[in-house]
Parts: sequence; C-alpha cells; structure tokens
Amino acid sequence: MRNLQDYPGKSGVVTVDHLQQARQNGLVNSTFDRITHRRDDLEWIARRLHDDRTHFVPVWRQKNLVRVDRPQAATLTQKDMTRPESLVESSILLGRHERDTYFAYLIDDKRDPADAHVLPADTAFEDLRRLGPVLDDWDASLLAYAKGICYWHERHRFCGVCGSPTANSKAGHLRLCTSSACGVSHFPRTDPAIIVLVFREDRCLLGRQARWPEGVYSTLAGFVEPGESAEQAVLREVSEETGIKIQRMSYQSSQPWPFPSSLMLGFHATAQSTEIQRNDNELEDARWFTRSQVFDAMAGCGSIKLPPAFSVSRRLIESWCKGTI
Ligand SMILES: [Zn+2]
Repeated sequence: MRNLQDYPGKSGVVTVDHLQQARQNGLVNSTFDRITHRRDDLEWIARRLHDDRTHFVPVWRQKNLVRVDRPQAATLTQKDMTRPESLVESSILLGRHERDTYFAYLIDDKRDPADAHVLPADTAFEDLRRLGPVLDDWDASLLAYAKGICYWHERHRFCGVCGSPTANSKAGHLRLCTSSACGVSHFPRTDPAIIVLVFREDRCLLGRQARWPEGVYSTLAGFVEPGESAEQAVLREVSEETGIKIQRMSYQSSQPWPFPSSLMLGFHATAQSTEIQRNDNELEDARWFTRSQVFDAMAGCGSIKLPPAFSVSRRLIESWCKGTI
C-alpha cells in the first residue's frame, strides 16, 4: 500500500489522475455531450422537440421513470405527449449521445403523470437512490442529471430577489425573472459537500446516522459553508462529528449527488489521534474499523454494511482498503 506521505508534493509529478478517478464514479457519464452551444439555438431545439430520435427523461415528484420488469431507465418520445404544447416549458436540454438527443422532462407534481402522457407499459416512477445500485452506469447517470436539473427548476419558479415568477430560458439552463424592473438571471445550482474517509495506520473511521438502515456505516460528510474551502470543511466536519484532528488530506474525486442537489468532493485524510468524541450528535455512532473488518463488509459477510457501490463514499472506502489511494 502507498501512504499519503509517499506522494511527491511539489515535484510537479502527477501521481493521481483525478479525471480517471472521477470517471469511475457512479452517476458520472463521460460519454454524454452536453452540447452547450445549442442552448440558445431555438430553431434547432424546436426541431429536436418533435424529432423521433429525441428522448424525454421524465421526472415527477423527484422520481425517475424506470421499467419495473428489469432495472432500466424509461424515456418518452414526442408521440407519447398528449399535450405537446407543454414541451417547450417543461423540457430541459440535457445533451446528445451518438445520434440521439435527450431532454429532461419535468411533470407537474400536482398532476397525475398519466394525464398528459402515454406512459410506456411496465414502467413506474421510482427513487433513484434506491435504484442506483442496480441500474447500469449510463442509465443511472442520465437519470441523475435529469433529476438534479428538474429539482433546481422546481425550487426556482420564483425570483429570489423580487418574488416575481421566473421563466425557462437557454433550453432550461437559465431561469429569468419575468419582472422588467428586475430581470435577474438564475443559473442552476449545486451545493458543494465534502465526504472523507479518515484513516490511521490499519484502521479507518466510519460513522452512522440514526435514520440509516440498520448496520450501515459510512464515511463522514457535510456541506461546505460560505467563506470556507473544501479542505477547511473536511477539518471542521471531522472535528465536529468525531473530535478527531486531521494531519494530512488528499483529494480523490468528485461525484454529482442529486439527493437533492449536492456535488460530493471526496477526500482521504490521515488522523492525528484515535480518541473519538462526538460533539454535534449528528452521528449516533462513530468507530474505528480494521482493514479486515472492512474487507468482510465489502464481501457482504461482515458485522456492518457499507454505503452502496455507486457512491463515492464506497469508492473512498474500497480504494483505501485495497491500498490504491
Ligand atoms: Zn426578480
């Protein structure tokens, strides 16, 4: 195993390729083209909205449409829309893959989805967090993108400056305040959060929240606050939740986490000490686990359960356990 101390620091040698690390994370799609240059091309968008090679990725009450007979994303075509006049306001251009175009499609949470759409047979709206572990990576990342941007639209229907309604613009990547006296532009937001596997020698630090399923232990995490760097947030969160002081840390990779709107920034960190003092009661338990205990949990035969395989949390744990950080 290579220790954090072995990294060359200021030598200029790139020892960790964060791009490759991030590509391996669940919910990250490296083959999808966001075609940002098309967001202002109203003519092109109008044609795509009525094209048979266009897929609409519906989101309703923050849930995604999936097949019930097998773990697979389900999409709609323009022929499934019984009220096509709602396409422009409800569609958000996601991008292209090969020859197909994809739009997220936000369905009003107060309506029955079957009211204005013919939903494919054997499909249902489900929680992506539950389905993430069984969907293939491409489908999961497509649904995550659609879910994340739809959540932002739902929460920004009104201007935060003057309270007037906002309207969809730039193919759904901007909401404009409709008040001529205000006219503020609102761009899609994500909330940065740190997630960190703390370790010392042959043990790592995992915690659990009371609301998690029984036996699940995971890495420590928390939101980055205004005026704070991600690294400072790591120091603060670890100290608040466990009382442990950090000696060194190393950035690993990031992952979009639309539950509801986070960007997880993953770190490994070495601890100065091992005495745990929970200060903020955010966790109901925090403990040190040996590498062999974590290996057993990865194999599904340990005394604890780990976070799902598609989470960056799981990757932080596995890469430490296998000595590949
Ligand atoms: Zn306004």
